[in-house]
Amino acid sequence: MRKLLRRMFGYGSRTVPYPTEAFTPPAAFIGRPEADLDGCDRCGRCAAGCPAGSLSLVDEGLQLDLGSCIFCGECARICPEHIAMGKDFELAARGREELKVVFARG
Ligand code: SF4
Ligand code: SF4
Repeated sequence: MRKLLRRMFGYGSRTVPYPTEAFTPPAAFIGRPEADLDGCDRCGRCAAGCPAGSLSLVDEGLQLDLGSCIFCGECARICPEHIAMGKDFELAARGREELKVVFARG
């Protein structure tokens, strides 16, 4: 028991002072998809290939539903010219609709 307690207290703090201080995620962290639609021809391959059905072409551009996105990165693999996985992890929202973001047409 003494050994266990010594080991437990020996670990020290494993948390970071976020949000008091800014936090930079590790290099391997995958955040939400980001899209730059400049030159996008609206082919729809990204939406068709999304396994969660989270992408859809809308009049304003490309809609991403963060409420169903599984952050798999398939859209970025399908269209690396216009979509990349970002580092944003601050995705809290007050309602379901706020999780739907639209990337404007280029
Ligand atoms: S973002 Fe890429 S895959 Fe998606 S509609 Fe535009 S060109 Fe097609
Ligand atoms: S990361 Fe995966 S689930 Fe999310 S929009 Fe892209 S393809 Fe769809």
